Amino acid sequence: MSKLVSLIVPCYNEEQALPLFYEQTLHIIEQLPAYNFELILVDDGSRDGTLRVAKELAARDARVRFLSFSRNFGKESAMYAGLLNASGDFVAFMDADLQDPPALLPQMLTALTEEGYDAAAARRQTRTGEGRIRSFLSRRFYSMMNRLTHMEIVQGARDFRLMTRAYVNALLALSERCRFTKGLFSWVGFRTKWISYENVERVAGETKWSMTQLFRYALEGIIAFSVAPLSFASLLGTAFCGISLLGFLFVFFRALFCGDPVAGWPSLVCILLFASGIQLFSLGMVGQYLARVYTETKRRPLYICRESNLPEEKFVRMG
Ligand code: UDP
Ligand code: MG
Repeated sequence: MSKLVSLIVPCYNEEQALPLFYEQTLHIIEQLPAYNFELILVDDGSRDGTLRVAKELAARDARVRFLSFSRNFGKESAMYAGLLNASGDFVAFMDADLQDPPALLPQMLTALTEEGYDAAAARRQTRTGEGRIRSFLSRRFYSMMNRLTHMEIVQGARDFRLMTRAYVNALLALSERCRFTKGLFSWVGFRTKWISYENVERVAGETKWSMTQLFRYALEGIIAFSVAPLSFASLLGTAFCGISLLGFLFVFFRALFCGDPVAGWPSLVCILLFASGIQLFSLGMVGQYLARVYTETKRRPLYICRESNLPEEKFVRMG
């Protein structure tokens, strides 16, 4: 029996890119006759004709499965839905915009079947075509993440990776609602082979991530995998206690030896503002964690599916 490979493709407004993605992927699949493939297109509540294109592809090719969400739930939810519904012995995530070159698939399969790896992941060596501020901030984020969480998230790592069934089951066992898949990949462990490639610009359409969304994504990652910010608040508090003690001694001895000239209101106001700013900042940080606890306890599904061509007995409508 030849093994089944599931390719999970989150799609949000990818009407133009999807047919191109299908063509290229098909081309690669044809070079791998030893495997069966299924393509799981997860339409993340697109507002354009993505669902129509997905249905057309499904009508043409029985290997194409699609799931369509009731609204836009975000890429993380789309990836999770794909994982839940994939039945392959090997499973891969791929972007619909061809920024994850399907040409790497044969190499990834070899890594898993012959070289004894549990996952083969792609990382881009360059960030050509990406804004300078954007790539600078991304690099800062990855180094901060690695320092704060003691977990290795490789620079330029993409979500594009091929995984074994055991690896996928491990990912599915992590049932948290606030998912930061890049961190989960690292958390589950296993042996991962990194494959470097030059950045490819998206074939059609435009990026779905604004700066604000990327910032939120980064925050999600740090909070999901590190409690260091919480201790940061107490560290800062301790430091301020120390400084204020020194300040007190200074004021006391100055008054003792030089008298007490009443001055320094402006500096007092500045210190007050600074200290209360720090307090609010720390409170906000605690709030961020509390918010995650709140979201997790509600245990709302990560996605709601509106339509799909998956067989009913396998289909997971809500995740
Ligand atoms: N995507 C999604 N839901 C979203 C945003 C993006 O499913 O809310 C998909 C998108 O269709 C694409 C992939 O996630 O297949 C990566 O998105 P994009 O190319 O916009 O991100 P970038 O490559 O610019 O980081
Ligand atoms: Mg992209």
